[in-house]
Amino acid sequence: MSRFLHTRYAGLETYTPGEQPRDKQYIKLNTNESPYPPSPEVLAALGPGEVADLRLYSDPEGAGLREKLAGLYGVTPGQVFLSNGSDDILNFAFMAFGEKGAVFPSLTYSFYPVFANLHQVPYETVPLREDFSVDVAGLSGKGKLTVLANPNAPTGLALPLDQVEALVASNPGHVVVVDEAYVDFGAASAAALLGRYENLLVVMTYSKSRSMAGARLGFALGSRELIADLERLKYATNPYNVNRLTLRLGEAAVDSDPYFRANARRIMATRDKTARALREMGFRLPDSQANFLFVTHPRIDGARLYQKCRERGILIRHFSDPAIAQYNRVTIGAEEEMETFLTMVRDILREEGL
Ligand SMILES: *Cc1c(COP(=O)(O)O)cnc(C)c1O
Repeated sequence: MSRFLHTRYAGLETYTPGEQPRDKQYIKLNTNESPYPPSPEVLAALGPGEVADLRLYSDPEGAGLREKLAGLYGVTPGQVFLSNGSDDILNFAFMAFGEKGAVFPSLTYSFYPVFANLHQVPYETVPLREDFSVDVAGLSGKGKLTVLANPNAPTGLALPLDQVEALVASNPGHVVVVDEAYVDFGAASAAALLGRYENLLVVMTYSKSRSMAGARLGFALGSRELIADLERLKYATNPYNVNRLTLRLGEAAVDSDPYFRANARRIMATRDKTARALREMGFRLPDSQANFLFVTHPRIDGARLYQKCRERGILIRHFSDPAIAQYNRVTIGAEEEMETFLTMVRDILREEGL
């Protein structure tokens, strides 16, 4: 740290991204990326003409993409906000709507407390239930910005739509953000509630089900007024925060939506098969509706399993938080990758004499 840094940021805790090592080729099951490439339409969307056009700024309104997303989700373009990944939107949401504080579950996406601290938003957390499900009653009616990841990370558990609606309805004076990064893997989207609740902001991303984590594209759906608030902050920060190439790719992805839905189904089938195999080996795991599994084994230490997998060339995500140190989060890769993973885990268990 230099002596020039604003004292406000001296103690700032930052988010720790999953490792992206370069020392050798790993099977990467640690950052919830898609094992499949984007659709053929996306692959073909950029040519020398689009690259040459990089001399021009991108459209700060992203009008073409907003129109396509509005069509896909049954809203108006004025109800769509675009940004540089959904983390960028969550950042704006804490900045915009956190005046009276924030509340979120105790075990959820670890970026929420980072954003809260960055914007000096005091926050409280509500413990999950014993079975890792979100305590909707405990989270309800708090009179603050409320943030729910649905499905939740890193558990993978999803709330049914009526419970999400109860949460949104319980907090009419404040914004309820529903972070749907994983919604395409089987959960019901709160986008269906948008017509009825002006305090609902649904945040989605191209990073997971749309295989475009590297493009950095996220979007939010909400009332026109909420979207205008986010625009205000975007235009006070960086109006061009979605680049030309990404806008173009984002449109092509909407045009090939069925391709991505089919991929998500493929990943869901692999997930359910992997879950069954792990349970047969003695692992315990919640019923995931996301593209990852949150697994623990009563007889092998979580950090040890992580380390053994790493030595053998497979990366999974281990969290140092003592509350979940016995768990690992395993991204669902391609069918063959998961077969390799399962074989490896069987070998490790055998080696441990289990
Ligand atoms: C991956 C993830 C995001 C962030 O996605 P980007 O769009 O890549 O910034 C947001 N929320 C949750 C819960 C995630 O897992």
